[in-house]
Amino acid sequence: MTDCIFCQIAQKQIPTKLEYEDEDIVAFNDLHPRAPVHILIVPKKHLVSIAQLEEKDATMVGKLIYAAKILAEKKGIVENGFRLCFNTGKHSGQIVDHLHLHLLGGQSLGSMV
Ligand code: AMP
Ligand code: ZN
Repeated sequence: MTDCIFCQIAQKQIPTKLEYEDEDIVAFNDLHPRAPVHILIVPKKHLVSIAQLEEKDATMVGKLIYAAKILAEKKGIVENGFRLCFNTGKHSGQIVDHLHLHLLGGQSLGSMV
């Protein structure tokens, strides 16, 4: 997906400071952070959202969540807690159509769900 911003970041076509990388995943700070820690954890493979997941992608989703846990430890937000969020589709407000996991923390996040 050459016109996908997160594919371009994952393929290093847009220089971006990465907070984490492995063979399947990149993670970087959100451009418009909604909390002191706001990191996007993104598979290198282009998938639109959780709604398009196939069973063969389930391991990759587990890796996204595990990377979030590693990043939460690195940022020192495990003790006070954090939130993970996959916006999925129109009603969620998803604006980037490349699957991504939000990691939010560093302050009280309110009581949303
Ligand atoms: P959403 O699709 O609503 O789950 O969220 C997409 C997120 O991507 C938003 O929080 C944006 O601020 C963020 N975003 C969009 N473009 C970039 C970019 N080039 N680098 C970092 N974050 C971005
Ligand atoms: Zn993409």
